[in-house]
Amino acid sequence: MKRNLLLTPGPSKVPVELCEVLGRPIIHHRTPQFQQVLKELFEGLKKLIGTTSDVYLLASSGTGAMEAAVANIASPGDKVITVEYGKFGERWAALAKAYKLNAVTLKIEWGRTITPDEVKAALTEHPDAKAIFITQCETSTSATPDLKGIAAVTRATATALVVDAVSALGTEPISMDEWGVDVVCSGSHKGLMLPPGVGIVAASAKAIALFETSSNVRFYFDLRKCRKALADTDTPFTPAIGIVIALNEAVKMLLAAGIEKKQAYYLKMAQAVWAAVEAIGLKVYAQPDYRSRGLTAIVIPEALNPKKIVKIMRDTHGITFAGGQGDLDGKAIRIAHMGAVDEYDILTGLACLEKVLKEAGHKFELGASLAAAQKVLNA
Ligand SMILES: *Cc1c(COP(=O)(O)O)cnc(C)c1O
Repeated sequence: MKRNLLLTPGPSKVPVELCEVLGRPIIHHRTPQFQQVLKELFEGLKKLIGTTSDVYLLASSGTGAMEAAVANIASPGDKVITVEYGKFGERWAALAKAYKLNAVTLKIEWGRTITPDEVKAALTEHPDAKAIFITQCETSTSATPDLKGIAAVTRATATALVVDAVSALGTEPISMDEWGVDVVCSGSHKGLMLPPGVGIVAASAKAIALFETSSNVRFYFDLRKCRKALADTDTPFTPAIGIVIALNEAVKMLLAAGIEKKQAYYLKMAQAVWAAVEAIGLKVYAQPDYRSRGLTAIVIPEALNPKKIVKIMRDTHGITFAGGQGDLDGKAIRIAHMGAVDEYDILTGLACLEKVLKEAGHKFELGASLAAAQKVLNA
């Protein structure tokens, strides 16, 4: 049987322990057994996110969590700031438009992200903004901001800081309460190692107060319903039961391994990939001070046909990288080192990349990326 190694930044590789959990017969959600799962999962997610405030679960992909944040935090006509440094930042602006918010959009060049000073300048110019929407790991470019520094700016203002952590949660450090982040949006299928199906929203007291005053039309994504259900350790509607049960196990696995240790390991794999990429004459897209731990976007000369490289790796060899998105469509490939991916997955992916690059006519010494990666991994 052909291998199917997912080195994509969502969905990401699902470890066998969790495949077994996902294969179990379904249980009913209005039962003491499921209530126990929810109780453990809320506790685990709070630890992972670094909050004692509310965490809500939605049966949705990551975008559902983002939509819930937008729909609940402001009213039509309210001023908000959306920040774009990649494809996913553009989604905040599109959502704000759909909900008729008055969005000021800051465009930052791709490859870096917004800095705390730029956030400060934006809030000085727009002190009446209800919220600022940013992306913690911009999956299209693999760049990540100084979230702690940004939260230090927003926490002193009335503006709520809303963070798309869909691909960041579990992989990039976050300490929501300590840093002063107001809303964290995520999903089950990236750093949390599962299929898509559970959207996650964590909200601070500042955010919850805004949810109460929003006059936006909302029904399924009305987070006030989720908040009310929390009092009974419940969800307002039928949750994605099987994935919720597996998510509880996934979060337990990450916490048991030690989240700081895991994140240090993701950083090491990232550094190994950066060294590997340079060793075969390619370029990492994100600027050095902004590189994420969870994935790497690699610039591929158009003459080598990056789309074809991804296709051959996937269809012939069973190893899936992601292609480029938006401005990077046909110009880059992306490899994830998040969730359940380990160093041998990365080495396998690099070995396959070398083979396919060689066949495409790229000039480099075979094995060079593997040697460079091994040096970092075994330092
Ligand atoms: C994957 C992802 C999303 C959400 O995408 P869905 O397809 O809705 O799960 C949002 N933001 C970022 C940064 C992502 O990586």
